[in-house]
Amino acid sequence: MRPPLLLVPGPVPLHPRVQEEFAKPALPHYGDAWVKAYHEMVDLLRYTWSAPRARVFPVLGPGHAGIESLAHTFFRRRDRIVVMDNGFFGDRMREVLVAHHLEVDVVRSPWGAGPDVTGIRKALARPARALVVVHNETSTGVTNPLREIVEAAHEKDAFVIVDAVSSLAGLPFPFEALGIDGAFSASQKCLAAPAGISPVAVAPSLWESADENDAEGWYFNLFTWDKYEREWGDWHPTPTTISSNLFYAVHRALVLVKEEGLEARIARHAKMAARLREGLRAMGFRPIAPDDLLSNTVACLAPPQGLPAADVVRRLREEHNIYISGGLGPLRGKTIRIGTMGTQAEPDVVDALLASLRLIR
Ligand code: PLP
Repeated sequence: MRPPLLLVPGPVPLHPRVQEEFAKPALPHYGDAWVKAYHEMVDLLRYTWSAPRARVFPVLGPGHAGIESLAHTFFRRRDRIVVMDNGFFGDRMREVLVAHHLEVDVVRSPWGAGPDVTGIRKALARPARALVVVHNETSTGVTNPLREIVEAAHEKDAFVIVDAVSSLAGLPFPFEALGIDGAFSASQKCLAAPAGISPVAVAPSLWESADENDAEGWYFNLFTWDKYEREWGDWHPTPTTISSNLFYAVHRALVLVKEEGLEARIARHAKMAARLREGLRAMGFRPIAPDDLLSNTVACLAPPQGLPAADVVRRLREEHNIYISGGLGPLRGKTIRIGTMGTQAEPDVVDALLASLRLIR
């Protein structure tokens, strides 16, 4: 049997050139070669975030390490934070920020719907330190339009922090052009690298707003990362050990983004998502969100009547060695979720899945 085809909405199959890097013997996380690679990584992250002026950090950890580091560095106990929640990961943002003893106000809209812009404006009528939003809600396959809500927040002097975990390098995410203040992602999604690095971007506006003496903690405090980059930059630019295999694998993945070109890569995601949707619709699967909000990196669909979602997931795995995901939260047992991220957004991959689905349909 061929190896499993991983079509869950992250992690995704490693590109062979990334796999090759990941499998190399371990190297030290300091010294001339490392410093050169680290600075290349910083440049590549700025390119991938479309944020030439941002500070960027390859924070070790899953995507959650990104929001943790932004909260430790830029929020202070009892700051008021407005969270936009229209799915599982919006609610997860609430949970993380409450754990930081922040005063969190949630503006909810139903799963599958877009942002409640009126509700956000109302919530921002009271002073808030920041608005936190998930760009691409991986639980529902909705891409939340950002422009209007960024403007609404800035009109009220609130910073905008964005979860771009399932967006970066797959969806248009013009960090600087949109005026986003802080964002984080994860290496195992559209970058098609192993899980374990959360790329974080911070605009000068947010960076300069914080007093480093008030930041909490050490490791997830980005002022610590900044200090080591400045003071140890010529031999050991990060505060701690970094797995060289992971680091070089993510570095290679970012080189591949640059080689392909960000625009071409985003266009490839859009094309493959459309190909998948068309095939699924022809079999009677229905996206749960309106057409104008459909994500190009994750599809969330209800199966045709008489075909339970759990059976689709199980039969693809057992009979075809293909892994997709089921629904989360209220969508559990009702939907399937399929990733078209990085290496998944290829015609032969999409067609292989559609062919297998036709057999179990
Ligand atoms: N935010 C979004 C939108 C996600 O899709 C995920 C994971 O799927 C996360 C956050 C959490 O990422 P991680 O599990 O890498 O911490």
